[in-house]
Amino acid sequence: MVQKNLIDGEWIAGSGAFRNINPSDTDDVVGEYARASADDARAAIAAAKAAFPAWSRSGILERHAILRKTADEILARKDELGKLLSREEGKTLIEGIGETVRASQIFDFFAGECLRLAGEVLPSARPNIGVEITREPVGVVGIITPWNFPIAIPAWKIAPALCYGNTVVFKPAELVPGSSWAIVDILHRAGLPKGVLNLVMGKGSVVGQAMLDSPDVHAITFTGSTGTGKRVALASVEHNRKYQLEMGGKNPFVVLDDADLSVAVEAAVNSAFFSTGQRCTASSRIIVTEGIHDRFVAAMGERIKGLVVDDALKAGTQIGPVVDESQLNQDTDYIAIGRQEGAKLAFGGELLKRDTPGFYLQPALFTEATNQMRISREEIFGPVAAVIRVRDYDEALSVANDTPFGLSSGIATTSLKHATHFKRNAEAGMVMVNLPTAGVDFHVPFGGRKGSSHGSREQGRYAAEFYTTVKTAYTSA
Ligand code: NDP
Repeated sequence: MVQKNLIDGEWIAGSGAFRNINPSDTDDVVGEYARASADDARAAIAAAKAAFPAWSRSGILERHAILRKTADEILARKDELGKLLSREEGKTLIEGIGETVRASQIFDFFAGECLRLAGEVLPSARPNIGVEITREPVGVVGIITPWNFPIAIPAWKIAPALCYGNTVVFKPAELVPGSSWAIVDILHRAGLPKGVLNLVMGKGSVVGQAMLDSPDVHAITFTGSTGTGKRVALASVEHNRKYQLEMGGKNPFVVLDDADLSVAVEAAVNSAFFSTGQRCTASSRIIVTEGIHDRFVAAMGERIKGLVVDDALKAGTQIGPVVDESQLNQDTDYIAIGRQEGAKLAFGGELLKRDTPGFYLQPALFTEATNQMRISREEIFGPVAAVIRVRDYDEALSVANDTPFGLSSGIATTSLKHATHFKRNAEAGMVMVNLPTAGVDFHVPFGGRKGSSHGSREQGRYAAEFYTTVKTAYTSA
């Protein structure tokens, strides 16, 4: 059965369909999904526009109930949805279920936020005048998501958009439509009025572009590559719309001489290789001071050799496959580039054969890398990391900050002085001490600076900045 798009409350067949393939086993078709056309996207935008006046004035209890019901159903179905996610994206089942639970927590959090929306009442600078500051929804929000967090990223955009009274046109990544379809189905059945949430699956260059080109999309929230992010920005400037971008990273993980070796190795392995390195918060730049360098590299090598790379759904798998052939080619290209640049491929990097045909790659660790090499400057987005040797903390901090990106930054140290200094001086939106660069909570702000992000933060209460617009009202009594 082909899963359809949701437009104006109706499930609509698209112009053709596409297949969702399991990267752990390319013979396994996860499902077939209707491919929306540009006209479908325009119909979805028109439906969202028509639904906005009523939804923006809907009662907070109605919104609360729908988001709460959605959170409950996602949680009740976490094993099934987590398996679907792992099957379509390739992250391990534990990670897939974990991400599904997180999506439920996000809907639960924003169900609560519906009830907590507050304004301010201030005295005016003039006598006998009152001033009220309130937040109102922005309008039709376009949501464009990437493939690497198939349920969490849609959740952290859809939940606040609906919570604050916006209507939505949602375009998930074509590689992973299954999880997105499932949460839209849940929200639809939870009682959303028609047109409030519209799903248009299909090509970014067609469906996504139609959203960028429409003057009736009042805000776009985008997570994905830097290149597409720039297109979103340029089109949004053209239409004078609000936009928010979360793009790539080249996150540093610093290991100091005084680090606890096992803490440093566990955090570095997690940062670099978990979720197959396909996280925008992954670290592929491990900056190590010379006193601990050799011991750290030897211990990393032992851990890498022991990592179980296999089918995402198999018990015991620690690293699933790369998401598809094109990403696998990008990863192996960077391994070749690292070698040509003079870095030493110390561990891993081989293509692996497993019981099923899939995109399996042994996590790779380079040593003797410099921060000027392409493998240290460009986002690889796979299980490929490089160790850069530095003299001391000062050099480590300077190398960590010497990047066009600024999403997450980590350090392993037992020194309060260095940890405190690093937290204050790391040029990143998120800083981790003795923790992996990836792995964040659902109720606090997420996002970066420099080339990684643009606009206000996502998640937690800070999400209100993007999904609402402020009104200041003056009353003379
Ligand atoms: P892309 O930028 O290729 O795709 C992201 C989304 O944009 C997809 O839904 C895609 O559609 C869509 N898209 C593509 N072209 C257009 C267009 N012309 N107009 C509108 N939409 C378009 O990124 P990937 O999905 O390949 O994700 C990987 C990248 O995302 C990495 O570089 C990673 O760093 C970054 N990322 C950043 C995160 C962050 O929070 N900072 C989190 C996750 C990923 P289609 O389905 O056709 O590809």
